Amino acid sequence: MYSQPILLVVNQEQDGKALRRNIDQHADDLPEVLCVVNTPDVIDTVSDINPACCLLDCRGEYAASLLLLKQLRQHYSPEDLPIVVVIQDENEELAVQALQAGAQNYLYGDEISPTRLVSAVCMAIRSGSMYRKLTQLSHYDTLTGLLNRSLLMNRLDQAVKRCDRYKQRCALLCMDIKNFQSINDSYGHDVGDALLQAVAERIRRSCRSTDSASRVAGDEFVVLLEQVESGTGRKVADKLLKSLSAPFEILGHSVLVGASMGLAVYPDTAKSVDELMMQTHQAMNRAKESEVLDFVSFSEQHKHQWRRRHTLECDLPGAIARGDLKLVFQPIVCANDYQLRRLEVLSRWPREDYAVPAPELIELIDHLNLIEPFHEWLFNAAFGQLRDWQSEGILLNLCLNIPANYCYNRNISLGIRNALNHHGINPKAIELEITESTLMRFPEKSVQILRELRDYGLRIAVDDFGTGYSSMAYLTSLPLDTLKIDKQFFLDSEHHEQNRKIVEGIAALGHSLDLEIIAEGVETTLELALAKSAGCDLLQGYYFGKPQFAGVDWHSYISQFPLVKVDG
Ligand code: C2E
Ligand code: CA
Ligand code: CA
Repeated sequence: MYSQPILLVVNQEQDGKALRRNIDQHADDLPEVLCVVNTPDVIDTVSDINPACCLLDCRGEYAASLLLLKQLRQHYSPEDLPIVVVIQDENEELAVQALQAGAQNYLYGDEISPTRLVSAVCMAIRSGSMYRKLTQLSHYDTLTGLLNRSLLMNRLDQAVKRCDRYKQRCALLCMDIKNFQSINDSYGHDVGDALLQAVAERIRRSCRSTDSASRVAGDEFVVLLEQVESGTGRKVADKLLKSLSAPFEILGHSVLVGASMGLAVYPDTAKSVDELMMQTHQAMNRAKESEVLDFVSFSEQHKHQWRRRHTLECDLPGAIARGDLKLVFQPIVCANDYQLRRLEVLSRWPREDYAVPAPELIELIDHLNLIEPFHEWLFNAAFGQLRDWQSEGILLNLCLNIPANYCYNRNISLGIRNALNHHGINPKAIELEITESTLMRFPEKSVQILRELRDYGLRIAVDDFGTGYSSMAYLTSLPLDTLKIDKQFFLDSEHHEQNRKIVEGIAALGHSLDLEIIAEGVETTLELALAKSAGCDLLQGYYFGKPQFAGVDWHSYISQFPLVKVDG
């Protein structure tokens, strides 16, 4: 019936004799029965003979048998070693205790007929394999057969403990399948599911049997590598990337995927399971964002960068709400008489711990979806300042930068109008700067909203002109007042001659469309000469002044420029 023997464990040698006698009478129907006495060696004996089932005779010394039962369970799962206990005198209480301690079935000492014995053993084996199915369901991903997140976390806990105890390292690799969503959308879920199964198979084949490969979310896989040397993670990652980059043949479709992979190592950079998971994910996200890298390994340097980024992301919403951001103002002067005509408004986030460059601040605002609260603050702070200056008799115009996804947003005109009204500012005093690349991304969508704003009285400038790819047709149809020539043409002295021609060309083109031309990034007398000879109308740059807070020094700062009276 069974190729493996049954292991009978008794407390006293003579206990086993009666049982053996009973069993041996029907030796033809039963597997071989091996009998051993309960000693600490039993655990090893089990691994040597690999029995189909263990028959544990608890009669006489129940406590010693129960102890052995618990020890066996610590070493073997019910699927590997089903256990049937033999209990004295129909004692149900003891039977229940034994089941709770991990036995699959029980027999009362005086009812052990061969038939009962065989049926008890069969039931125990069956319940052991049911246990396997249940474990399978609760610990394994049903689609791919890889571990699921809960078993992975379990293994990770154990692995980290082993690393601490034996001074080893473990590495965690996390990967996201490229293009999965689009393949799923274009070919359907059947292809998507079959693709995930094929990916899982390649991952399994690229790993050792001791590695733990898991699927933790839709198209996200994680592999735990234990006892690694430095460099092992990288090698496995290369192997996986190579394997996943070959085309897949799925239900008649040939599909190419590839992966973005992140790696972190315990205890090199991570000091806990949570940190290890977080760092692996952060490294993977880096790889996902990168246009050139498929693999990123978490390093100490990243740790610092990501801690900084995390802090900034947590702090920014509160900083905007509290008004911690500050404005600086940079002069824009007339090219003929250097009279101060406008101020460009630029945002700053003064912090003691980290410097935050303006482009990063704007990117963070976008990333955290804070565009609207940020602009509410920006408009109020800028227009409030302008009104204060006006009340002191300083009449100026302001230029505000508007980022990519705000100039298509319907709320922009409402936001600006409300703030203008609130502070009693004439729209004519305000120019909105929109970068060329932004404008040209959705020109039709921008035209409508910009026209609305311009009809209301605001001026519109194209910022960083010369860096994008403006279509001449749109340049004529967009409602524009000003072109700001990008500073790269003034700052790059190596290509001075070439730049001069470009600046002259842009200025001539702008003038032919009745646009005002601003030169940005004028730092030296050479650049000043270039901007003036090319015919730029207004000039901005460190030559005239760096962006300045409107603080205590403001009046002396501004008094160096001849002021011109403008509409206020
Ligand atoms: P931008 O709009 O082109 O602003 C001009 C940038 O050039 C400013 O940098 C300014 O300080 C710098 N600059 C001015 N003159 C010179 C010069 O002579 N030489 C050099 N090397 N640089 C000069 P900043 O303030 O760091 O801002 C960088 C960018 O961040 C801005 O470029 C703009 O795109 C963005 N930004 C800053 N504040 C805001 C804001 O409130 N809203 C939006 N949407 N973007 C902003
Ligand atoms: Ca600007
Ligand atoms: Ca600019």
